[in-house]
Amino acid sequence: MANREPGRSTPTHDTASRYVFAERPKCPACHATRLRAYRTTRNDDDGTLTRYTRCLICGQKFLLILE
Ligand SMILES: [Zn+2]
Repeated sequence: MANREPGRSTPTHDTASRYVFAERPKCPACHATRLRAYRTTRNDDDGTLTRYTRCLICGQKFLLILE
């Protein structure tokens, strides 16, 4: 009789908290994901990255903030 305790040998519960899905950045003009970062600066105050990005599809330039 296999009487399994709940919460044991079920590692999916623990490993699930180890996955964080970051959305792929998109061009604000045409929503393409083919982007090229041409400059990256770090904000020393809060540790965020500011990435100067250009869309390879439509050429739109925008700032990508990585928290
Ligand atoms: Zn674009």
